[in-house]
Amino acid sequence: MAIDSDRTRYDAVVIGGGIAGQESALNLADSGRSVLLVEKDLSIGGRMIHLSKVFPTLDCAACITTPKVSETARHPNIAISTYSEIEGIERNPDGSFSGVLIKHPRYVVESACTGCQDCEEACPVVVDDQYQYGLVGRKAAYVPFSIANPRIAAIDIEHCILCGACEKACPADAVDFTQETESIGVSAGSVIVATGFRLFDPARIERYGAGAFKNVITSMQMERQLVPTRPFNNVLRPGDGKMPDNIAYVLCAGSRDET
Ligand code: SF4
Ligand code: SF4
Repeated sequence: MAIDSDRTRYDAVVIGGGIAGQESALNLADSGRSVLLVEKDLSIGGRMIHLSKVFPTLDCAACITTPKVSETARHPNIAISTYSEIEGIERNPDGSFSGVLIKHPRYVVESACTGCQDCEEACPVVVDDQYQYGLVGRKAAYVPFSIANPRIAAIDIEHCILCGACEKACPADAVDFTQETESIGVSAGSVIVATGFRLFDPARIERYGAGAFKNVITSMQMERQLVPTRPFNNVLRPGDGKMPDNIAYVLCAGSRDET
């Protein structure tokens, strides 16, 4: 469920809404603990919701993740704050923890948005879609991705040209450019850090040609071409949109990089 801004005390704060954070939150919530789940992205689900299959069973990643995402989102003991971070965590004399929840503005009223995507259709601005790892574009007014949870639009204010088209198109009157960053003091008996991993930038290893050649892609871009929610209906070369005859994989690129 969405957070209640007036509530400041939880049994636990879980930082990160990926598979590890959700599993932690669900275990705590199922044992009767109140949990604040803080996710810096617009949707919970983490990296795993964007994968095709998982090792070693080759199970469909979304088939594992989406039921867990729904369970997390519906759990009465879990309050979820997306597009949020937690800062300044300190240990209190009684052993509990305090920190400040920073909730960034989506410029869309979460309780009013229906996820209809009318704003997206109306928006004239196209930028790289970070959820498709730059393979295709998205609008400046956008619902993050098809299986996002919550399925609520956001305005990418860095690229928005303030034309007002999304505001006019929204049937729910949900676009709100007056939103500001909120800071809410919170405390909890325990804090679980489940912030996941950051992808290695393969352009740092020049000999692989990433960044220099369009058809050298990352493993996440390959995953996005293989998932059921993929941008194209096939595996295509970004350079010319044609099907590749051969694909070479460079495994573990950067895994031993210590710079
Ligand atoms: S105001 Fe910004 S987000 Fe809305 S339609 Fe115009 S460019 Fe897109
Ligand atoms: S902001 Fe409005 S138009 Fe955009 S998805 Fe939400 S309800 Fe639909």
